[in-house]
Amino acid sequence: MTDAPLGNRHPSLWGDPEQTPTAAEVRDVRELLAGRFADADLGWYSGIDWRRVKVPTPRLPIPDALAAFTTDTGPARLLHAVGRSFTDLVRARRGDYGTPPDAVAMPRTAAEVAAVLDWCADAGAACIPFGGGTSVVGGIAPGETDQPVVTLQTRAMDRVLDIDAVSQAACIQAGASGPVLEEQLGREGLSLRFYPQSFEFSTLGGWIATRAGGHFATGPTHIDDLVESIDAITPRGLWSSARLPASGAGPSPDRMLLGSEGTLGVITQAWVRVQPRPNHRAGRAVQFGSFAAGADAVRALAQSGLQPAGCRLLDPTEAALNSAGDGTAAVLVLGFESTWRPVDHDLDLALELCGDAGGVALPERPRGPSEQWRSSFLRAPYLRDALIGLGMVVETFETATTWDRFGELHAAVIDATQEAVARVCGDGIVTCRLTHAYPDGAAPYFTVIAPGSRRAEAQQWLEIKLAASEALAGAGGTITHHHAVGRDHRPWYDRQRPDLFAAALTAAKAAVDPTGMMNPGVLVDQSA
Ligand SMILES: Cc1cc2nc3c(=O)[nH]c(=O)nc-3n(C[C@H](O)[C@H](O)[C@H](O)COP(=O)(O)OP(=O)(O)OC[C@H]3O[C@@H](n4cnc5c(N)ncnc54)[C@H](O)[C@@H]3O)c2cc1C
Repeated sequence: MTDAPLGNRHPSLWGDPEQTPTAAEVRDVRELLAGRFADADLGWYSGIDWRRVKVPTPRLPIPDALAAFTTDTGPARLLHAVGRSFTDLVRARRGDYGTPPDAVAMPRTAAEVAAVLDWCADAGAACIPFGGGTSVVGGIAPGETDQPVVTLQTRAMDRVLDIDAVSQAACIQAGASGPVLEEQLGREGLSLRFYPQSFEFSTLGGWIATRAGGHFATGPTHIDDLVESIDAITPRGLWSSARLPASGAGPSPDRMLLGSEGTLGVITQAWVRVQPRPNHRAGRAVQFGSFAAGADAVRALAQSGLQPAGCRLLDPTEAALNSAGDGTAAVLVLGFESTWRPVDHDLDLALELCGDAGGVALPERPRGPSEQWRSSFLRAPYLRDALIGLGMVVETFETATTWDRFGELHAAVIDATQEAVARVCGDGIVTCRLTHAYPDGAAPYFTVIAPGSRRAEAQQWLEIKLAASEALAGAGGTITHHHAVGRDHRPWYDRQRPDLFAAALTAAKAAVDPTGMMNPGVLVDQSA
């Protein structure tokens, strides 16, 4: 077979090679960094040519029956060897792809998925389900293993199969990426209205498998809120849940697959809630003297029942980095949208609440704050490539906690991360924004940018990551609000979950995956 379905992606860069940062953008970023980190070595390193990397000989032959949709060429295996975390990208730039999968299967039907799983079972191989490969937690990299590995890429299954206009739901194949499924739903005037920052490449199956969070701040923001039913192929056969708007019939089979991270089976399709596209929008940016004052306003908004679509609070440095402020004040990017009714009144009420918390609404601009935020949000992954090329250590991590513990957690995580950044890199910035707000709590999202030492960046990242993760776990936050567990968050996930739940999950995995071949090392270990 050819590698055509793989597209023109590059394994150590984000996304569409046509959109990589331009020379002018890199120059601007370098100037900005030079102004803040005077001693940093900001030489450009674009990495080695990945097509020259020596790829180990595959450890298992591809059966003839699967050859039409399975490949073991070097480029295909390297493209599926790493995700998109900072360490993935840094190591790949240096030609270090760990142990790439031995083969990449790209099934087009559920029957072909089942055939791949049968092959893996017979050959004693591990199977790693792979959607867009945008995992930032080591969810799809095989790791060091003696067991042969087959990566099962779902992108050839990307159709909207059915639309129930009466119930406003659609049946969509798991390999559809954000733009691909929105284009098909858009023809019917519908939208899933789910926009993670990785929207361009991540897939419906990946979102479900990782319990992804979209870019709306309140209301139905998680893929969990949008799923009606799921079909998955497990090593023991089909798992297909009934299509229902809600059900009180025992523990939910969908809840079990949501967040299963490829460890139970391959999600092949799901019925999801869709809606007409919104026609009414209103937004405004509001400035606060401090991040804490802004957080008080976000809490009031989340508890008011107004449900703003956008409600992102940026601390002063984060606001400056996103061209939303001058670095002296926190900025709240507020936005409302609706299909059915004007939302100006909602915005007025929200601005009143912000005013009560000391917020000052900024003058309206021709390009609304939500629109401006959205374009910088989607461009950010490309700019991360520029930062990496210039030798910076870049990390984003996120958590969630209840409002009563929010202030303490925020202070503890900022302090511990800043201390680690100073110790490991000498200098650096740590910023925070609130990405999601609930009546009872919020999800703070932290960003680290620090000058790295060439070739030591991955180790530096690890030390900072350890300090940050310990701090947020110590302050009672979850190890992840939406980035998932993967291999990177496993130690903290193991501590966070109840032991009996771990035992129950292990037993559930044994029921559908008796040999433990599905994404080994992620979430649970195989039962003894
Ligand atoms: C720049 C950037 C921005 C991001 N922004 C967000 C964000 O806003 N919100 C958010 O939630 N996450 C975000 N992420 C993380 C990532 O995009 C999400 O975890 C996403 O849901 C992964 O989807 P994917 O299709 O790329 O899955 P992959 O990365 O391919 O896989 C992720 C996990 O899901 C499993 N999996 C994938 N497909 C299937 C399937 N069909 N059946 C069973 N298991 C499967 C894999 O085995 C793996 O464990 C971001 C990542 C990057 C790099």
